[in-house]
Amino acid sequence: VDSYLDGLFTGTSKDLPDAVRRHFADCPRCAELYRLILTQSGEELIPDGLGERIRVNLHRDLRPVKPLPSTRVLALRFLAILVVLGVPLLFFMGGGGLERMSVTQLAAVTALLGGTAILLAVSLSWQMVPGGCQRISIPLLLAAFGTGFSLVVAALFPWEGRGFVDAGWECAGAGLLISVPVGAVLLYLVTRGAPLSFGKLGASLGAASGLLGLTVLQFHCPIQDAAHVLFSHGSILVLSTAAGAILGLAAERLSARRSR
Ligand SMILES: [Zn+2]
Ligand SMILES: [Zn+2]
Repeated sequence: VDSYLDGLFTGTSKDLPDAVRRHFADCPRCAELYRLILTQSGEELIPDGLGERIRVNLHRDLRPVKPLPSTRVLALRFLAILVVLGVPLLFFMGGGGLERMSVTQLAAVTALLGGTAILLAVSLSWQMVPGGCQRISIPLLLAAFGTGFSLVVAALFPWEGRGFVDAGWECAGAGLLISVPVGAVLLYLVTRGAPLSFGKLGASLGAASGLLGLTVLQFHCPIQDAAHVLFSHGSILVLSTAAGAILGLAAERLSARRSR
């Protein structure tokens, strides 16, 4: 009888054997258990008021949400913000770098920056939706960009050592200064969804805002020398990604402690 009743839960018990039926006639406990399993309601097993308490507890944490737009719309919004913030900045700072770069240099660097910006925007849109499929690995994307950027700059830009010591921190500092407000605007947009992994989100936001800082500096800076571009401009992306990841992890700890 026990193994027949157990089998009802896993679906391996089929027709009621005569021996078991005869046992039910003598044993009200087994007959009652059999009836409960068949009705599958389980309601009668829950103590009075517990179901209501669970309902109230769940409802207290629930807040009404607006449906999010599609990934494409969200990603275009992120890209639009980058353009809307980046173009005036470049206009005010001046595009000395644009004039000094050759067509090949400009095309290669722009393709790398633009492609990474698009992938970051798509990833940020995915991260806004809980439980969604995330097909872009942020560490992998950043590693690919870092490798591509290093190769392009090392191959296409002259190694003359200009601006490595004197103007090194100046460009990095200016780029980081740009990425702070950009990061804040992107963060505002992202919190309109329901992101779950703050560490990853922080790194992505840091990378996206650092990428804009790097882009503006690359198009603005008159020192188009390989060492300067790699270390001074490249450090903008590295430092802002690290800062974003650290802030994100801190936020994750804080929210975990609060919910405890
Ligand atoms: Zn029995
Ligand atoms: Zn520079």
